[in-house]
Amino acid sequence: MTQLIQHYINGKVVASTSGRTQDVFNPATGEAAAQVALASVDDVEAAVAAARAAAPAWAETAPLKRARILSKFKELIERHQDDLAAAITREHGKVFSDAKGEVTRGLEVVEFACGAPQLLKTQFTDNIGGGIDNWQLRQPLGVTVGITPFNFPFMVPMWMAPMALATGNTFILKPSERDPSPSLMVADLLQQAGLPAGVFNVVQGDKLAVDTLLHHPDVKAVSFVGSTPIAEYIYTEGVRRKGAYPLRVQALGGAKNHLVMMPDANLEQAVDALIGAAYGSAGERCMAISVAVAVGSVADRLIEALVPRVKALKVKNGMEADAEMGPVVTAQHKAKIEAYIADGVQAGARLLVDGRGLKVAGHENGFFLGGSLFDHVKPDMTIYKEEIFGPVLCVVRVPDFASAVELINGHEFGNGVSLFTSDGNTAREFSRRIEVGMVGINVPIPVPMAWHSFGGWKRSLFGDMHAYGEEGIRFYTRYKSVMQRWPQTIGKGAEFTMPVAK
Ligand code: NAD
Repeated sequence: MTQLIQHYINGKVVASTSGRTQDVFNPATGEAAAQVALASVDDVEAAVAAARAAAPAWAETAPLKRARILSKFKELIERHQDDLAAAITREHGKVFSDAKGEVTRGLEVVEFACGAPQLLKTQFTDNIGGGIDNWQLRQPLGVTVGITPFNFPFMVPMWMAPMALATGNTFILKPSERDPSPSLMVADLLQQAGLPAGVFNVVQGDKLAVDTLLHHPDVKAVSFVGSTPIAEYIYTEGVRRKGAYPLRVQALGGAKNHLVMMPDANLEQAVDALIGAAYGSAGERCMAISVAVAVGSVADRLIEALVPRVKALKVKNGMEADAEMGPVVTAQHKAKIEAYIADGVQAGARLLVDGRGLKVAGHENGFFLGGSLFDHVKPDMTIYKEEIFGPVLCVVRVPDFASAVELINGHEFGNGVSLFTSDGNTAREFSRRIEVGMVGINVPIPVPMAWHSFGGWKRSLFGDMHAYGEEGIRFYTRYKSVMQRWPQTIGKGAEFTMPVAK
């Protein structure tokens, strides 16, 4: 019998009441390996009720005690890293070593969140005047929600849940329906770590679950990561929600990340960086490099070095030890990427390596594509403007540094960017002038560490606060100012003028 992946509500795996399900594929074999339940409105109501009931006691739990549970959770993740990574590879397709890297990057946010007592400290001013002191509290919001994409089924939920829990909120995760299993493993490990029932819940589902959560008056904040059209929808629906307190929303969207290669860059290093950043995880990373911007004379040398490397990529089942790239996530996604490649050819870009039609021996039904490489891509082409989210690298040739900056600043997305150069001043100018949220200098994928915050600019992020780090603490707390004095210092008589320090 096919496995049915269910919800996790109030400390238990709970069967869905909807009767609706969706297939979950193993992308390497193309088989529907399991099914996932798609929540009904009643299922979502049950999760919100559980999270609301658990919220007061969890908010009252001392930050140090909350941190100790997270610390135990961290140990359990370390112990189960291989199981988590295998589940990621089974449903997402990325290679096992990459999946282990994903687990590590998620774990780092848990480590950061273990510092909750320090992170929640605020400022205090002794004696602002007249025996009065003034300080702030950072209080939890209550029930918070995370809606996450398929491409990091462990790491992206970890950008949110540990931060929400450390700051005293309860949390409902709505993972991607394409790779839902890691979310239940997280629930189980949190329970083993001693998290009380109802503090962390998982609702499996689709648009119905998302919309019900978004409009639920007991939900106080929604953190979303996914494609730009849905991020924009979540943000605009969320902030204009009526009949309840304003919803706090952060919605991280799609990307088109450029790597600029200057003529003075070390060619070998830049090509190594490009191969990993463009084709790692089959290009299904929000920080993947999908455009190489070749400045001036470097273009021909770059192409000459890239072509054999793209052709030699080892595309295999992600569980094979020497695999460099696995399949893409679904047959539909594969077809969408193939359509983009056809569109690029039609538009006149030069397809130097064509990854379509690749067959992997023993995995003939898997959703595999080889790496594709386009040269002479122009800014008005669809393959340049839109996020392909697959193993397709576009090379755009520009005459100079200023044109590279102008090109990137003109793009609607602004998630990540990278510059390869050996000149310090070029690097400095680039990082100051570029309109992108995360910049790498001779670093291809500059994903900030857990104690810095993650977020793009322009249509890569809707909302004001970035994910995790200090911005994550702000997102999941409300600042409250307290002013206090005691009867001995209160003078007699009413005051009708604006209070000022005396
Ligand atoms: P997606 O937008 O299709 O789905 C994300 C989530 O939204 C899922 O949980 C899904 O169930 C839900 N959803 C989908 N359609 C919906 C709808 N019509 N109404 C309400 N909810 C809906 O994204 P995906 O394909 O799972 O993930 C890939 C995308 O995520 C890429 O665009 C990638 O760049 C982006 N991403 C961005 C970041 C970032 O940090 N900026 C990180 C990872 C992924």
